[in-house]
Amino acid sequence: MPVTDTDLLREHGLRVTAPRLAVLDALGGRAHLDADAVLREVRTTLPNVSVQAVYDVLHALADAGLLRRIEPAGHPARYERRTGDNHHHVVCRGCGALDDVDCAVGHAPCLTPSSTSGFAVESAEVTFWGLCPTCRSAA
Ligand SMILES: [Zn+2]
Ligand SMILES: [Zn+2]
Repeated sequence: MPVTDTDLLREHGLRVTAPRLAVLDALGGRAHLDADAVLREVRTTLPNVSVQAVYDVLHALADAGLLRRIEPAGHPARYERRTGDNHHHVVCRGCGALDDVDCAVGHAPCLTPSSTSGFAVESAEVTFWGLCPTCRSAA
């Protein structure tokens, strides 16, 4: 039996609600959406859902580890369902487009710090900045 979003919510101790299911559905595949885009998507199935309800769901799902929140400086936070694999992101400094960068070598944290001050390092969050193909061809 494939694991459904309903199962996922229950496994994480979350009540199953229509907005939570709709948010998970909106973030299917490899999508990285900001809260506004999630709201637009959710409203295609739940037209009366409030902005606050969608924000609350995003926070609850992120706190439970079902969503990852990416916060590139100067751009709205993006949410995605690909969690726990220590992947990185490339962000366009022109339009803010964002995509996944798989770990280049080895396992997490896949970067070797020059010193760790005694910390046991578990993961690294790398943001690569540049210009996306659209912005490059416009330049
Ligand atoms: Zn761009
Ligand atoms: Zn990602």
